[in-house]
Amino acid sequence: MDFNTLCIHGNSEKYDTTGAVSVPIFQSATFAHPAVGESTGYDYSRQQNPTREHLEKIMVKLEGGFDALAFSTGMAAIGAVMELFSPGDHIIASDDLYGGSHRLFHQISMKNGISFDFVNTSDISMIESHIQPNTKGVFIETPTNPMMQVTDIKAVAELTKRHNLILIVDNTFLTPYFQKPIKLGADIVVHSGTKYLGGHNDTLAGFVVVNDEKISDRLRFIYKTTGACLSPFDSWLMIRGIKTLPIRMDKQQENAMKLANWLGDQQKVKTVYYIGLPTHPGYEISQRQGSGFGAMISFEVDSEKTVRDILEKVSLIQYAESLGGVETLITYPMLQTHGDIPKAEREAKGINECLLRLSVGIESAQDLIDDLARVIKGE
Ligand SMILES: *Cc1c(COP(=O)(O)O)cnc(C)c1O
Repeated sequence: MDFNTLCIHGNSEKYDTTGAVSVPIFQSATFAHPAVGESTGYDYSRQQNPTREHLEKIMVKLEGGFDALAFSTGMAAIGAVMELFSPGDHIIASDDLYGGSHRLFHQISMKNGISFDFVNTSDISMIESHIQPNTKGVFIETPTNPMMQVTDIKAVAELTKRHNLILIVDNTFLTPYFQKPIKLGADIVVHSGTKYLGGHNDTLAGFVVVNDEKISDRLRFIYKTTGACLSPFDSWLMIRGIKTLPIRMDKQQENAMKLANWLGDQQKVKTVYYIGLPTHPGYEISQRQGSGFGAMISFEVDSEKTVRDILEKVSLIQYAESLGGVETLITYPMLQTHGDIPKAEREAKGINECLLRLSVGIESAQDLIDDLARVIKGE
């Protein structure tokens, strides 16, 4: 079945007998047993719930893996993946990560005895040169947040396979609609479902998709033990969101292309970071390894005053954290997503006081441009 169809009919299992077209929300914490030692297949919703199972079965089809687990947030998903590692293990990670992942690794995983090297994973030789005897995993985001650096997943996978390392890819920005890391050789895909998969800025969720039965068994154990599972209602909202993922992403990408081109022509805009622009250093790899460029744009303006003007004077575009939803949002990475990262480290990456990030939604591109033009050009 085609991806578009899988988003709607990816799991044909029926969970009730009424013919309900929309999968029911099984708002039950526990399930009665038919007899001693017997189970309907469901015992307690921390372990599994039919609504969540339906969602997970769709998700695993979309990413093309062995198993998918739905978590209460993206951070809960990444936190559970970190539980696969033990004190003494070493992980190589992208040096331009989502701020929450940066905080998790620095302030929790390190305390738990895991050591890290943060490198520019666009440069495969940087990953290779940091491999130590105790290295167990490589964690990448591509494109990165907010600098939009692109990593060649297949090339990293060849390296991690040779060294027996687990390759984890955060696929939040492109989703399986545009990029399928497991097909390119990744072992684990993580998501903030809060973003494009949910797509409406109304639900928090996270996913881990794995390509290996042993890792799946281990993660299922971690999952039921630590308990950050997605509720039945939020599972249903994700199911509903995913049904329109392809059409939302097509429209968001189309809008993003228009905005990126328009921003590039503005005097007050110094640099535009959008992987769909042929001038972007990751353009060719992106073309090769995915089927689209997504709708995330970062751009640097001429001054802090312009930043303030934009953030305070846009009216259609909202100044808010998060991304991927139908509403266009603008964020100030320095103060928001990356506020916890030390200044020198942040600035070395280009996350300075003039950098803004746009998550382009599905409104009319012209209305979005007009909103920005009013502020930038005083129109
Ligand atoms: C938002 C985000 C996360 C964290 O997800 P939550 O659902 O907010 O916990 C992880 N990675 C990336 C790339 C994100 O954008």
